[in-house]
Amino acid sequence: MRDMNIAFMMKNCWSLINEPNKLWVRVIKAKYGCTNEIIPVVTKKSSMSNLWQGICAAWDWFRPNIRWKVGNGRKLGFWIDNWLPGLGAIINHALVFIPPIEMSKCVHEYVSDQGEWEIDHICELVPSNVWQSIISSIIPTDSAGADSVLWGPAADGVFSVLSAFEVSSQISTLDRKPIFKVIWRWKGPERTRAFLWRVAHESLMTNSTRVHRGIALEANCPACNHDNEDTWHVLLHCNFAQQVWSNFLAFVRARDFSNSDIQTWLLHHLSRNHSTNEKRSTIFATTIDCLWHRRNRLVFQNTAISSEQLVVEINARVRVMSGNCGSALEGFIPTMSNPSCFGPVHLSTTSS
Ligand SMILES: [Zn+2]
Repeated sequence: MRDMNIAFMMKNCWSLINEPNKLWVRVIKAKYGCTNEIIPVVTKKSSMSNLWQGICAAWDWFRPNIRWKVGNGRKLGFWIDNWLPGLGAIINHALVFIPPIEMSKCVHEYVSDQGEWEIDHICELVPSNVWQSIISSIIPTDSAGADSVLWGPAADGVFSVLSAFEVSSQISTLDRKPIFKVIWRWKGPERTRAFLWRVAHESLMTNSTRVHRGIALEANCPACNHDNEDTWHVLLHCNFAQQVWSNFLAFVRARDFSNSDIQTWLLHHLSRNHSTNEKRSTIFATTIDCLWHRRNRLVFQNTAISSEQLVVEINARVRVMSGNCGSALEGFIPTMSNPSCFGPVHLSTTSS
């Protein structure tokens, strides 16, 4: 029954986008301060009707199922929107930190005046298969008209309550676990939240996953040569990860989950109902994100950095996120007074 309610609420979400001239849509968008973008901003208010409450509850499940049909590419965020068939948002494949100046670009900004893809300068930011997919995808042109929204789960892109019901039924077995609620509510960059979601689903493209999918022959860890590089190994068990975690007093127990599973581990460190405060969950999420990016730089760019350098990088990123100066890790690590390790840090544009 609950799944059916969510499916009907998703229909209302669809109407918000595709039936902007309907009276109830106009009224509700004005009342709750939605913008006039194709994809409206949907946020909870302190006082709201049952309808808006339902839309807000369904929106988090609805939004990731939107995909785009590329027209002129002027409405589509190159990195954040789901416009490349079969791959989802490109940002989820990024190998390194994407500079904000690139992040804010639309798809049409990567097309030259001659009407050809102009993406040579980003070829090191994404894996070669993604780069190839972009090169071989349809190039946006002004004559193609505006970009339009499609319903991802349906092959023809047309929304139906039945397909929404199928989506919400899957949610009930997967994403209604507590960890997914915690991830949705996690405060921080959208890209990192998407990364946490992939970790919880154990869908990172580790060497172990590559072997399972038949696209690699060896599952060894590129950092320590352990024979099975899976998600657990990269983020926790690898010698390199252990060295990084050993820098954080507050996460000594991050290393004590060998008999547990990844979702339990994430839940313990991201939820705010035990000793965890917001900063702690920020540091935890940033650390695993940095561990994964460090691994990708090692594999795809042959760039190795030390665990100390990675801690400096984590410090810089947490500092940017929390908007403070000085060390963001104060109180979390034992060696703050060591100036060689924690001097002024500048966030590099080519690492994250
Ligand atoms: Zn390893």
